[in-house]
Amino acid sequence: MFDKIIETAKNDMVQTVCDLIQFQSISTEKNNPALPFGEECKKALDYTLDLAEKLGFRTKNLDGYCGYIEFGEGEEMVGIVGHLDVVPAKQEDGWSSSPFDAVIHDNKIYGRGSIDDKGPVVASLYAMKAILNSGKKINKRVRLILGLNEEKDWKCINYYKKIGEEMPTIGFSPDADFPCIYAEKGMLSVRLTHPFSIENQEILNINCNQNALNVVPKFCSITLKDKISGDLQKLEFTGTSAHAAHPDLGDNAITKLVEYLNINLAKNCIENEFTFLKKLYDLDLFNIHSPKFFSDEKIEDESGILTSNVGFIGYENNLLEIGFNLRVPVTTSLEKIKTKFQTLTQIFPNVHINFTLEKAPLYVPKDSYLVQTLTNIFNQKTHQNLDPIAIGGGTFARAFPNMVAFGANMPNQKDMCHQVDEFIDIDTLILSSKIYAEAIFELAK
Ligand SMILES: [Zn+2]
Repeated sequence: MFDKIIETAKNDMVQTVCDLIQFQSISTEKNNPALPFGEECKKALDYTLDLAEKLGFRTKNLDGYCGYIEFGEGEEMVGIVGHLDVVPAKQEDGWSSSPFDAVIHDNKIYGRGSIDDKGPVVASLYAMKAILNSGKKINKRVRLILGLNEEKDWKCINYYKKIGEEMPTIGFSPDADFPCIYAEKGMLSVRLTHPFSIENQEILNINCNQNALNVVPKFCSITLKDKISGDLQKLEFTGTSAHAAHPDLGDNAITKLVEYLNINLAKNCIENEFTFLKKLYDLDLFNIHSPKFFSDEKIEDESGILTSNVGFIGYENNLLEIGFNLRVPVTTSLEKIKTKFQTLTQIFPNVHINFTLEKAPLYVPKDSYLVQTLTNIFNQKTHQNLDPIAIGGGTFARAFPNMVAFGANMPNQKDMCHQVDEFIDIDTLILSSKIYAEAIFELAK
């Protein structure tokens, strides 16, 4: 219905994506109220809102935290939530060209942010423009909400909510994968701290290079000093990193350290200090599905099985700190998992438990109007017959209720988000814009 209009806008879309890539919009917080996320994020937002105004939309800048682009009339509002901030990139990381140069080659636009999420934002904007220019009537307002802190703490969206901006009644986020993601597991990060020592050994250091909890650690080491001989011993463990949503794809270096300590040093343990680690090990906490810890109950549903990633280990002031990131199936409450961790205090009165991240799951049923509509439109436009998917990761769709992630990465295409030589294929850009136009029209009519 809108394909022709979008095709005529192809050059403008490509140019807009290239312009946006050139802003090095890495969200930086320097306590400057005029620039909550730095100069480059401000420029990227100003550029996009200016362009949208020229294209005939209403726009609003929410004090530099985020902005929106709107059209249509009506009580209800369809929301599309994307972001203009990007993760850092340096040419030294192995890029073939400068990551902020926006090079076109082989019908692809290369550059940081091309697929995550500047390209999909542009595809959404031109989808809205196609509906606007078609003269077809819609009965709801359509609002494209642009965050500037998605890659960090979502302070952009928190601000949107804090100042009482209107919540969409339905919508999607063009910041992940097609066909459509109807379920995203809950997320929980927990840090356990407990006194720890090894008999006859002084622990000088335990190091995992400050690994983030949502990454499978690829390195960790322990440095010990023999209390009698004074001999120093440094043990290093290496593995393979992976995203914590898929710990099975990695090889966890911390798990290797813990296994080593259990096999080689458990016999020298000081009751209740070393045994803390040993007990966690015996309870299966270092197993990626931790079945024993969760009472042999299989925590699994259509969104997948519970996974746990031990992502941090450190030692300071005789205290051992271990951090886990768990991905919890949508039908299990995070409270239930937290309660299970709290039971550790019965075994170890001195354990300190700190839940550092809690994100409720996203679940919009497969047979809901939203998921059915989006999936059907994707299938029609691409001549496929795919089902909506469930994932362990979290997308920007969690920002609002009744929203799901919808593109723009195509199924079976390598996910280039956060990668070296990130690109968006120009055909994908145009096709996703056509899909978005149909979807927005359907949700808003
Ligand atoms: Zn993103």
